[in-house]
Amino acid sequence: MENASAITTETIAGDNDSALRPRKLDEFIGHDELRNNLGVFVKSARIQSKPMAHTLFYGPPGLGKTTLAQIIARERGVNFSMTSGPVLAKAGDLAAILTKLDKHDVLFIDEIHRLHPIVEEVLYPAMEDYALDLVVGSGPAARSVRIELNEFTLVGATTRLGLLTTPLRDRFGIHMRLEFYSAAELLQIVTRSANVLNIAIEKKGAMEISRRSRGTPRVANRLLSRVIDFAIVENDGKISNEVANKALDRLGVDHLGLDSNDRKYLQIVADHYGGGPVGIETISAAMSEVKDTIEDVVEPYLMQAGFISRTPRGRMLTNIAWKHLGKNPPNEVKDLFSGTNDDT
Ligand code: ADP
Repeated sequence: MENASAITTETIAGDNDSALRPRKLDEFIGHDELRNNLGVFVKSARIQSKPMAHTLFYGPPGLGKTTLAQIIARERGVNFSMTSGPVLAKAGDLAAILTKLDKHDVLFIDEIHRLHPIVEEVLYPAMEDYALDLVVGSGPAARSVRIELNEFTLVGATTRLGLLTTPLRDRFGIHMRLEFYSAAELLQIVTRSANVLNIAIEKKGAMEISRRSRGTPRVANRLLSRVIDFAIVENDGKISNEVANKALDRLGVDHLGLDSNDRKYLQIVADHYGGGPVGIETISAAMSEVKDTIEDVVEPYLMQAGFISRTPRGRMLTNIAWKHLGKNPPNEVKDLFSGTNDDT
């Protein structure tokens, strides 16, 4: 086990996000096929001295989309710039960023499904021909001017592939879906993060954190940071199984990784709507939570873990959810799910 004596309050301040972010492809844990393919695409671009193909990452938040975009730039040996769909209010905002890019640079646009249509229009010729078509002047004197850009790679990230327009989606040469991580992969991530932070951690403690991380590296690192806080105050900075368990319980994360928001969701559907079906708008109002957050953050994990199912009439709790809540499902739900846990 690592030496805990190197712990200082400085190294554990905040959530250590930049320190924990993998910098190279071989530091990126899990998603082996995706990682190997990316390695090939980056290498091929380097050999051909071309920009890498425009790449689209999609999947729930916290699974490594930004990290991969940064890794592409580093492995390709080029600059990395980053922006986000909702931030780009005018075509000129994007034009200003694009004209500053050097040859083969990587531009990362997070939440690309939230680009304003006018801004998206600017992106089409930029992605296809590395050019900007700008209209100068107005009225009869207006004319179109084409500005050549350096060849660059656009990396887009979205939690909602379905909200991307087809023309934009089609302009990405590489589409990669990020899935939730297995407990074994998260165990590697937690162990690596503890190593980077020079924290002594028992394997069982690391396993407990990974099990409760909702399949998400960002959650795993966040829980690790909080468990470290408890370990420092209550266990000389060492993360034992006992400290991890106690800290996670006190943080309100249960043994399946559900937090207070997840439980609130399940409880509302169970107690107010008999387990569903109930529409997302209704759940959002009852939880006083933005619909997008529920759809992007809460539901994907509940769905993948088999707690809820989506039906044309709305969301429904499964038997697993009823069991987890310690309640009995109404009879018709019992019949619906009897004999199977697979409700997708
Ligand atoms: P996204 O852009 O999908 O929301 P990020 O790339 O910001 O997610 O990842 C969140 C954090 O999770 C990063 O800071 C990084 O430390 C960690 N992380 C994500 N994927 C991995 C991975 N495969 N291996 C190790 N750490 C990871």
